Amino acid sequence: MPDIRPTVGSSALVLNATYEPLCVVSVRRATILVLTAKAECVSDGDGILHSAHHTLPVPSVVRLTRYVKVPYRTHVGLSRRAIFARDGGRCAYCRGSAETIDHVFPRSRGGLHAWENVVAACAKCNHSKGDKTPAELGWRLHAAPQAPRGVAWRVLGHRTPDPRWADWLGLPSPVEAEAA
Ligand SMILES: [Zn+2]
Repeated sequence: MPDIRPTVGSSALVLNATYEPLCVVSVRRATILVLTAKAECVSDGDGILHSAHHTLPVPSVVRLTRYVKVPYRTHVGLSRRAIFARDGGRCAYCRGSAETIDHVFPRSRGGLHAWENVVAACAKCNHSKGDKTPAELGWRLHAAPQAPRGVAWRVLGHRTPDPRWADWLGLPSPVEAEAA
């Protein structure tokens, strides 16, 4: 068995034989799929794996060699991670780097905790907004928040996507960390 040390983001995206995203598995499981020729590595992650007989790059994205038919989950649970992923880690008001979750119509005034009423927001905007609505402040939302749709969401659910998967999943690129 390869010596697989857990690394940051130590999971891999699995694509079907048709390149359609299927699921996310541990790097360990993805490596075993590659070693047993059930999948091929299409995008390398960080580092190299060593075993008695093999040396191979850590897989970040693998593609199954045979097509599998899998029923998809259609509902995406509402979570902090999923909201950040949907919004690309950007504040819905100023487009800066988001650190908090804001209820567009404030919860204190009956706003729902639902996909259509939650957005990622930076701490500054969230604090200034308080219990007001964007309309009361003259603020505009970049886009009306919606429940996520599409294959990426059926695959990712609550997970934070690895930036290397973005091309396969059709996700917005995450915002770069601001220079200190
Ligand atoms: Zn902001």
